[in-house]
Amino acid sequence: MIILCTNDDGHEARGLRVLADVARTLGAVWTVAPDREQSASSHALSLDRPLTVAAAGPRVYHVDGTPTDCVLLAVEALLERPPDVVLSGVNHGSNMGEDVLYSGTVAAAMEATLLGIPAVAISYAGQDPAAIAAYGPWLERLLRDLLVRGDFPRDALFNINLPAVAPERVRGVRITRLGRRIYTESVARDRDGSGRVVYRIGGGRTHWSGRADSDFRAVEAGYVSITPLHLDLTHVELLATVSGWTLDRGW
Ligand code: MN
Repeated sequence: MIILCTNDDGHEARGLRVLADVARTLGAVWTVAPDREQSASSHALSLDRPLTVAAAGPRVYHVDGTPTDCVLLAVEALLERPPDVVLSGVNHGSNMGEDVLYSGTVAAAMEATLLGIPAVAISYAGQDPAAIAAYGPWLERLLRDLLVRGDFPRDALFNINLPAVAPERVRGVRITRLGRRIYTESVARDRDGSGRVVYRIGGGRTHWSGRADSDFRAVEAGYVSITPLHLDLTHVELLATVSGWTLDRGW
């Protein structure tokens, strides 16, 4: 099995190292990762400039681009043949609810899904990236269970969040849906060195809501959360309603 590992925290991130070590117990591993932090880069592609790839070791490459760039370059230009699976993470920080729309970690897995390659995004909800290493054996078992299945979905990816507890205190695995994360006061007004008004995005306050079976409730309760995601954003339930709005009048 050929496994491509990537992330959005950059090639030096501890979470990526843990993931690549786990992946090596499952197959032949290629790592193609951004050469710097790319968190919240979402599904951006670098169309406005050429990308540089640095070979950092056997089957290890650093790209001066986004996580999505990394997956595309890996699949179309760097690997001898397309990978059997793409693993993205382990992100330093959770990716739950609406986070998946901003996350470069999840976007890398989404890019693989678009290319027809099974993909798993993994994030750790705790504050200390050094604590991710303890999850190695746990992740190995979980990924093995997921990947040996012959029925890994072609049009979906899995978004895994590890709770902020030591692995021996994990209460189990829950299959979840996305919760709702609401940020308030996320824009701060400031002044730069020359007195000019500038704005910073980030920080602020986070409120969670969502059903009992949502990702953040599982993670908060000490479970590993696994959310199957698909990329068709069509609001299926609204199709009939909006069709009834007769928006085709006058055509
Ligand atoms: Mn990140």
